[in-house]
Amino acid sequence: MAKVLCVLYSDPVTGYPPKYVRDGLPKIEGYAGGQTLPSPKKIDFKPGELLGSVSGELGLRKFLEEGGHEFIVTNDKEGPDSVFEKNLPDTEIVISQPFFPAYLTAERIKKAPKLKLAITAGIGSDHVDLKAAIAHGITVAEVTYSNSISVSEHTVMMILSLVRNYLPAYGWVIKKGWNIADCVERSYDLEGMAVGSVAAGRIGLAVLRRLKPFGVKLHYYDRYKLPEEVERELNATYHPSVEEMVKVCDVVTIHCPLHDETRNMFDTQMLGKMKRGAYIVNTARAEICNRDAIVKALESGQLAGYAGDVWFPQPAPADHPWRTMPNHGMTPHISGTSLSAQARYAAGTREILECWFDGRPIRNEYLIVDGGKLAGVGAHSYSDSKKK
Ligand code: NDP
Repeated sequence: MAKVLCVLYSDPVTGYPPKYVRDGLPKIEGYAGGQTLPSPKKIDFKPGELLGSVSGELGLRKFLEEGGHEFIVTNDKEGPDSVFEKNLPDTEIVISQPFFPAYLTAERIKKAPKLKLAITAGIGSDHVDLKAAIAHGITVAEVTYSNSISVSEHTVMMILSLVRNYLPAYGWVIKKGWNIADCVERSYDLEGMAVGSVAAGRIGLAVLRRLKPFGVKLHYYDRYKLPEEVERELNATYHPSVEEMVKVCDVVTIHCPLHDETRNMFDTQMLGKMKRGAYIVNTARAEICNRDAIVKALESGQLAGYAGDVWFPQPAPADHPWRTMPNHGMTPHISGTSLSAQARYAAGTREILECWFDGRPIRNEYLIVDGGKLAGVGAHSYSDSKKK
C-alpha cells in the first residue's frame, strides 16, 4: 500500500464548496490530433466541481482509501517544517499542480528515498528536477492535453486585452469615469498585426488556430516545422530562430516548456530585437523571460504590454515587481485550472494512478521521465542538456 502526498492550492476564502454558477460542463469528445480524453475506470466527482483546491482533493480520496492507500492532502509546501517536506521521507507518490507547485528539487528528492512516481495534475513538469528524477529512477507523468485548450483560450483573451487596452478601460468604469480618450490612447485593433508563437505544440498550435480568424499574420518558431498542410491551413511563416521571428512580430506569445534551452530566452538582448511597442503574452513559464528585463522594457516603452499567468516562484511574493510594473495584465497561475480543465486532469491523474497500482503501462503521451531517462512526451518536449 502506498503513501500518496498531494499538494493543492487553498480553498476559496469564501468557503468550500463554492456556489457553482453553472450546472455541469459541456461534453468534449476528444482532442485535436486524435488523442483521447482521460479514461479512468471510474470517477468519484461531478465534472464542474472545484477539485484543484485542498477540499476538492482531485476527487481521489474514496478511490485511494478504498485501495488501502494513505492519502495526505496539503497546501503547506514550503520549508523543512512544511507538511509536504515532513512527509516526503516515506512517500511513494507525489501529486502536484503547476499552479501551486510542490517544487521537487534535487535536495528534496534526496530526502525521499521511497519516491517512485511524481504526477503533475496538469501540464508542465519543470517544478520537478528532471535530472534528479532520472538519476533516482522516479517516473514523472503529466496529463498531456488536459488543459491545453484552456490555456490557449486564456492566451487569446490576454492578447486582445493588451492590444485593445481592456483592463485600464474596465478600471475607468470602476472608478466611475467616462474617460474615453484615456481608454483609447493605447488601444489598437489586432487585425493586421503580426503574431508569433514561440513553439507550436499543443497549446501553441491551438493559439495559432484560434487567432487565424482575426485576420492577423501568423508566425511561429519551434525546433521542428509543422506539417506543410498545417502551415498552409494557417498561412503561417516558420522561423528557424526566435531572434528572426521576434523582429517581425507585433505580438509574441510563448508556449514552449521551461528547460535549459528556453530558460531566460527573453533577456535584455532578445527584447532589444523586438519591434518597439510589441506585446508579450507568456502562459508557459515565467523563467523563460528575465524578470527584471521585462520590467525595464515596459518602463522604457520597448514593450507596450506584458501579460501572462506564470510567475517564479509560485505563489509570487507580495513585492514581486510584475505585480506593479506598468502596462501588465497578469493573473495568478490560473489559465490551466478552469473548472473544465480540472475535470480532465483529475480524471487523468486517476487514470495514471490506476495504471500504476494495476501494474499497467502509463500512456506514452503522459510520460515525461521513465526508466531513468526522458520518455514519451518528455523525450520530445524537454531536453536534459543545454543546446550548443
Ligand atoms: P507540447 O509538448 O505539446 O508543446 C511544447 C512545444 O515546445 C513542442 O512543440 C516542442 O517542440 C517545443 N519546444 C521545446 N523546446 C523548445 C525550444 N527550445 N525552442 C522552441 N520550441 C521548443 O506542450 P503544451 O503545448 O501542451 O504545453 C507547453 C507548455 O505550456 C508546458 O510545458 C507548460 O510549461 C505550459 N503550460 C502552462 C499552463 C498554464 O496553466 N499556464 C498549463 C499547461 C501548460 P518539439 O516537440 O517539436 O521538439
